[in-house]
Amino acid sequence: MNPKVRDIIMDLKSYLEYLKVIGIETLPLFEKNATDQPSIPSSDTPSIVTLEEIRRELGDCQRCKLHRTRRTLVFGEGNDKAKLMFVGEGPGYDEDVQGRPFVGRAGQLLTKIIQSIHLQREEVYITNIIKCRPPQNRNPEPDEIECCHPFLLKQIHAIQPQIICALGTFAAQTLLKTDTKITALRGRLYELKGIKVIPTYHPAYLLRNPERKREVWEDMKLISERLNNA
Ligand code: SF4
Repeated sequence: MNPKVRDIIMDLKSYLEYLKVIGIETLPLFEKNATDQPSIPSSDTPSIVTLEEIRRELGDCQRCKLHRTRRTLVFGEGNDKAKLMFVGEGPGYDEDVQGRPFVGRAGQLLTKIIQSIHLQREEVYITNIIKCRPPQNRNPEPDEIECCHPFLLKQIHAIQPQIICALGTFAAQTLLKTDTKITALRGRLYELKGIKVIPTYHPAYLLRNPERKREVWEDMKLISERLNNA
């Protein structure tokens, strides 16, 4: 068999397996996005501390107004030596109740997406750009993101992942210091202090727009290739 044809068949097989894992039964067609490697401005490097120390430093955080309405501060969870880190937007209702990131419907989808590249949830680290739920799940505001950002940078610095997958507009824009929309950011590879950053759509957005799952699959393949080649 022609090697190119074999590669296409293997790729299609992987994609069909991914669709099965995340519960998709139809096969949409999309244009493939170009992948290049634009650079991004680097951020200040915080001193190295452990995740436990960072959590202790946050304490009963009241650095922004979200502390007034939150039930639980959702710090993050997973492997503290993870090669792959997911950064989302902020806790929702279920996360606020349970004190864990991505445990609602979007979280269940994220777990399936992680499994689609043959990883378990416990092998990665999952957190958000803000650690407290905004009232009525509204978007995080700039002052809230700014207050919480140093702690996210410390988490990244403590874990030193090879790749960060930024989930959704706010995570991608915050990490990459840009106003560019997620539709234009995703499908590409960026770098933050030697760590690759790959933005993709937030699982909550995917629940509302399942036709976008093909693009997330492309981004997950990019992540998987990079992890395997590291
Ligand atoms: S969102 Fe971050 S900065 Fe604001 S209260 Fe919660 S932990 Fe503190």
